[in-house]
Amino acid sequence: VSEMPGPVLVVAQSSASGPPRATLEALSAGRAAQAALGVPLHCALLGIGARNLAVTALASGCEQAYVGESADLDAHWGSVATSALVELVSRTRPAVVILSDSEQGQEMAARLSVRLDVGCAPHCVQVRLEEGRLVADRRIHGGRFVETVVWERMPCLLTVAAGVFAPVVLPAMDMAGAPSGAIVDLSVEELAAGEARRVAVTPRLGARPDIAEAQVIVSVGRGIGGPEKIPLFEGLADTLGAGLAASRAVVDAGWLDHSHQVGQTGRSVAPQVYIACAISGAVQHLVGIAAARHILAINTDPEAPIFQVADVGIVGDALDIVPKITAALERP
Ligand SMILES: Cc1cc2nc3c(=O)[nH]c(=O)nc-3n(C[C@H](O)[C@H](O)[C@H](O)COP(=O)(O)OP(=O)(O)OC[C@H]3O[C@@H](n4cnc5c(N)ncnc54)[C@H](O)[C@@H]3O)c2cc1C
Repeated sequence: VSEMPGPVLVVAQSSASGPPRATLEALSAGRAAQAALGVPLHCALLGIGARNLAVTALASGCEQAYVGESADLDAHWGSVATSALVELVSRTRPAVVILSDSEQGQEMAARLSVRLDVGCAPHCVQVRLEEGRLVADRRIHGGRFVETVVWERMPCLLTVAAGVFAPVVLPAMDMAGAPSGAIVDLSVEELAAGEARRVAVTPRLGARPDIAEAQVIVSVGRGIGGPEKIPLFEGLADTLGAGLAASRAVVDAGWLDHSHQVGQTGRSVAPQVYIACAISGAVQHLVGIAAARHILAINTDPEAPIFQVADVGIVGDALDIVPKITAALERP
C-alpha cells in the first residue's frame, strides 16, 4: 500500500495480574511502526483490567485507547472480540493492526485476516518504511529464514515474534495522571448462536510461573531418562521460582503435556536464564529459545549442539548435577 493515512492499532490483552509480557512487546512494536509511518498510535485493550491498562498506555504515548472489559468478551474470547475489532477497524481504518504472538493473539489475527480479507504476517521481527510502503521481516521455517513481506491492501495485519521487541515500560497507575487521550468503550455485540462458550479457566501449573512469563526456566530433554526423573528438575525450578519447560521428545513421550514444549511446534520463550538439562539442541528447539538472554546447558555429550549456543556449559550427568545445584541453592 502506498498511502498510509490511518493510525497504527495495537490489539492487546490485559489480565487480573497486569499486562502480559506479550502485550508490552506488541505495544513496543506498535511504537516502532508508528515512528516509521509518522501516524498516531491507537490501542484496543481487551480483558480484565483493560481500563487501567488504557490509562497507563495513554500516559506512555498512545493517543486513543479502546477498551473491552465485558463478561461476554471473557466468555467468548475469539468470536466476540473479533466482531468488535472488525467493527473498530471498519470505523477507524488503521494502516496497521498489530497483535502479539500469544495463543489469543494468533487466534485473533487468523480470524481478522479472514473477516477483513487481508493478508496476515505472523512472527514479525521488524517493521519499517521502504519507498512509502510498510515492510516487515518475519521468521519462517522455524526461524531458519527471514522473509520480507509487503501488503497489497490495508490494514497491514501482523503478529510480533515473542522476545524480539523490548517490552514498553508503562507508568504505575498512580503516576499516570489524567490521560491526555480518549478512552472509548468497544461495542461488544451479543454472541452469534452456535459459537463455543468458555465456561471455566483453570490454571494447570500450580504456583510455578508460566514459561511465557518466567524470568528463569528449567527445561528437560529426553536425556533425563524417564518421567520419574522430572521431580528432580521441578525441585530446581521451585527453588529458583522458575518455570518448567521441555523438548518435544519429552512431550511426544507423554512425560509432560504440550504446554511445556519449547520450539518450532511449541512455544517461544524469552527468560533471563534458560537451563537446558539433557537437551541436545536441535534447531527446532533452538528457535524457541532465540530470545533467551543467557543459556546454561548440562549435557553428557561435549559435542551436543546446545553447547554452541550456551553461555555456560556443563559436560556431565544432569541427574547427578541438578540435585547438587538445588541443594547448594537451598543451603542457608
Ligand atoms: C517439524 C519438526 C518440528 C519440531 N518441533 C520441535 C519443537 O517445537 N521443540 C523441540 O524441542 N523439538 C522439536 N522437534 C524435534 C527436534 O528435532 C528434536 O528431535 C528434539 O528437540 C530432541 O529432543 P531432546 O533434545 O530432548 O532429545 P535428544 O535429541 O534425544 O537429546 C537428548 C540429549 O540428552 C543428552 N543426555 C543423555 N543423558 C544425559 C544425562 N544423564 N545428563 C545430561 N545429558 C544427557 C544426550 O547427550 C543428548 O544430547 C521438531 C522436529 C521436527 C521435524
